[in-house]
Formats: sequence, C-alpha cells, structure tokens
Amino acid sequence: MRRLVSLSLLLSAALAAAHAAEPRPNILLIVADDLGYNDVGFQGARDIPTPHLDRLAASGIRCTDGYVSYPVCSPSRAGFLTGRYQQRFGYEFNPKWDATAVTHGLPLSETTLADSLRAAGYTTGAIGKWHLGAHPQFHPNRRGVDEYFGFLGGGHRYFPGSVVEVEIGAGKKAATSGDAEHNSPLLRNSTEVPEVGELTTRLGEEAAASVTRHARDPKPWFLYLAFNAPHTPLQARADQLARFAAIPDVRRRTYAAMVATVDEAVGRILAALDATGQRERTLIFFISDNGGPMTKRNANASVNSPLRGQKGDVFEGGIRVPFLVAWPARIPAGRTYPQPVISLDILPTALAAASTARDAKLAALDGIDLLPFLTGRNTAAPHARLFWRMDGGEAFAVREGNWKWLRTYQNAPQLYDLSADLGETRDLASARPEIAARLAAAAAEWNRSLSAPAFGNNPFGGLINRTGLERSSAP
Ligand code: CA
Repeated sequence: MRRLVSLSLLLSAALAAAHAAEPRPNILLIVADDLGYNDVGFQGARDIPTPHLDRLAASGIRCTDGYVSYPVCSPSRAGFLTGRYQQRFGYEFNPKWDATAVTHGLPLSETTLADSLRAAGYTTGAIGKWHLGAHPQFHPNRRGVDEYFGFLGGGHRYFPGSVVEVEIGAGKKAATSGDAEHNSPLLRNSTEVPEVGELTTRLGEEAAASVTRHARDPKPWFLYLAFNAPHTPLQARADQLARFAAIPDVRRRTYAAMVATVDEAVGRILAALDATGQRERTLIFFISDNGGPMTKRNANASVNSPLRGQKGDVFEGGIRVPFLVAWPARIPAGRTYPQPVISLDILPTALAAASTARDAKLAALDGIDLLPFLTGRNTAAPHARLFWRMDGGEAFAVREGNWKWLRTYQNAPQLYDLSADLGETRDLASARPEIAARLAAAAAEWNRSLSAPAFGNNPFGGLINRTGLERSSAP
C-alpha cells in the first residue's frame, strides 16, 4: 500500500514537472479595424473569400457572441489591452492627434498586456496602428513593447505619397483622410522608416518576419498585430482590386480587396508559424476593434448583417465582432462557442496561458480567463452580464443571457430577446417591464463604478455631447 502511495506521489510529481516543463505558448493578437460582422468567410461572407482566416477559424473556436467593449477604435483598444472597462480610467473617446496632449491617451496608471507579458519573460512586439495617444509618454516602447513597427495615429494612408482620395464613380471622389494623422511617419521603435508598397501587405511581412526571427528564442513571444485595414481611406493594390472586378460598387470592391489583403497577410503569418514549427504552441486571437461603419463618417462599405447598427452604436452591429481563439495544443478545433464573451477577456486568457498572474496590487480586471470555458471544463456562462457606456453616458447597453437592454441618447430604453430577434427589431421593453427594470438597475449600478471621461474628442479637448453630460450621465 505504501508503495502504491509512493508510486502515485511520484507520478503526480512527474506530471507536475511535465506540466511545468511544457513550454509557454507564444501569443498573437490580430486586430482588424472597422471590419464588418459579415465580411469574412467564416462569418458567412459570399463575396469576399478569406481562405486563410477561415483556416484559422477551423483550427480553433469561433465565438459567435464575441464583443468589444466600445464601438469605436481607441477606447476599444484601451479596453482589450488592459482587460478593464476603459471607462474605469476615463477612456471614452478617441484621443486628439496632438503630441503635446498629455491626457489624451492610455493613462500611465494602467498596465498593458505587453507590460504583463514582458514582466513574465516574454519578448513583446507591436505592429501597425497604435492609437493610444500621440504624446511621447504613450509610445508603445513605454507601454511594454520591446519591438514596435507602425504608426501612432488612428489611421494611415495605404500607399506612399499624399493622395488618399478614391474615385467613387462619375468623376466623384470620396472624402479624404489626407490629414497629418493619416500621413504620419512609419516608425521602427522611434526611428522613422520609408514607406514602401502597400501598408497592409507590409504589416503582414513585418509580422511574418517577427514570428520567424523569434522562432528559436529561448523566450516565448507576444505580438500585437493591429491592421488599420479595412478602415478608410479606401485604397487597395491593383492586383487585389482586379480580383473583385465583378463587384459593381467601387467602394465595396475596394473594401473587398482590402479585406482580402488582410487575409493574405494573415496567411503569410500562418505560413511562417507552420514553417518554423510554432503553430501548435501559439495562442492566436483575431477580432475587429468595432463593427463596420456603413453610413457614418469613415463609412467603408462594410456589412454587419444580420445585426442591427454599425460602428458607433450600442446595437449589436457596433459591438459584436468576428472573434476567433485558436491554440491547437490546448483548445479544440473547428468549434463555435455561443456564450457571450468580450475582448476584455483576451488579457486574462493570455496571462493564464502564459502561466502568469496579474500582480494582485494592480487594479482588478473585468475580463476573465476563457480557457476553462473554451476547453469545455466549465460549461457555465463566463459572464453574468456585459455592459457598454458611450460618450460619457449618452448611451448604455447591457447583455444578460439572451436579453439585451439599451438606451441611446434621449430615446426610451429598449429591450430585445437576441435568441429570437438577433436583428433587434422587436422592442420588448413594454411587454417585459420587469426585465427592462432589472437591466436598467444593473446598468446604473455598473455606471456608478466608472469615471467621467478624462478627455473629449473635439479639437479643444472638450466633450461633444448632444444632450449634456450632466443630464444623461446615468442610464
Ligand atoms: Ca475601428
């Protein structure tokens, strides 16, 4: 008996040692910009083939109800790079493009995913769009990133030169983004480098080179690859445009070519992972930072169907995004996961995969480790409720199970049953007042835990409010 016990102890010790010796995964976070919910093959797009993204989806889990924490670019990024609702630290608008604006960016009080993984012994990289503040104190190299290649603003022209207009037919041109932000220099760390070729293609090449360069390192790596595509300006390579000649609308044709270029870049990275034998031990996330903008400023001819709304909305079309998690060594392949998850979960999931815990002295996270849920060990819903607040309290939304409650501006609150009405067309607020009241109260309680916006979005740093912050700062 004693021998059996000893043997069992020995076995446990051996298993523990084996687990400890298991190499920590590389972590790759790929973010598309303003990608429509229905604009990649794995989401059902018919007119834009995305074979590489589809292959990535087939190698892992597609989260059907995957959300971001804000329906526009910069606050969404502040959320997933900290694992916290970004309104907790006043981040509720896009920052000014102003290198002297010390408050317009990710507060230095916050710890980024790159900070945490670097402290855990990872080599950290970021490639592409930053958009977390133009002041030098917000530079990626000061926020945990060892190796940076990209541009610091919220968008960029795709080709060298100053022309960023695109023909939209009949001699008309679309609105341009030919401002300083979209023409800012490309940087390698802090050194300006020449623009060469098409930007999405270049970002993919840089990412593939990074993956290959670090393949034999004793340390694992983290790479944050933030494409600015398919955000405007609508510009694409001629060979990609030619592939989509059958799409009559030149804007949709250009958008399709841009999405296809993102897909091609992802293919280049997956090929680099395969060629260097790293695919099994790399945890990959793929999301869009917000829903597709269809009719508003920076509209890019994206499609969010069957969802209602678009970028800038708390309807599903603004906040529900394509959302993939793949890690062949640990997560089942070819599945869908139906429970609501949020981009805030990426950070704690990555830290758990890296066998590191966030410093308990640091602020609490809102995201949770998804690994027990995605591997099927925990069959409960990861989140009892998810919340959104926009524009300092102009709009709110709550998701609880299949219920979605929202209030936008001065409109009456609305309630939808997403299990029966994914398109948010039948308002049940009057029919189910008890549920509407419960979710309104939950939103109000959550709102009390947040901060007021620390910076606004007009050129003077104030807030653009349609109805007045004081009047509408509670749901
Ligand atoms: Ca965006």
